[in-house]
Amino acid sequence: MSRFAQKTGRTFDLTSSRAPEILQVNVGKLCNLTCVHCHVNAGPKRKEIMTRETIDCIIDWLAKTEIQLSILPAARQK
Ligand code: SF4
Repeated sequence: MSRFAQKTGRTFDLTSSRAPEILQVNVGKLCNLTCVHCHVNAGPKRKEIMTRETIDCIIDWLAKTEIQLSILPAARQK
């Protein structure tokens, strides 16, 4: 059982006919704002930033899929 299934009690079947159409990647938590509704709890003191190596891996993987659209929301960085 995957960690996702263990934590949520749900499974995700990649072989189903409902394949993912959109990939959303949060590339970092450093932001010059601290919105109360922020779903990643970003802020000016957060230091987590996705590495270039990881971004390259995602782009390489995405290029091999049928996913048509990717959204790369990023915290507003200084
Ligand atoms: S990432 Fe977006 S929602 Fe979160 S604190 Fe920054 S501006 Fe606000």
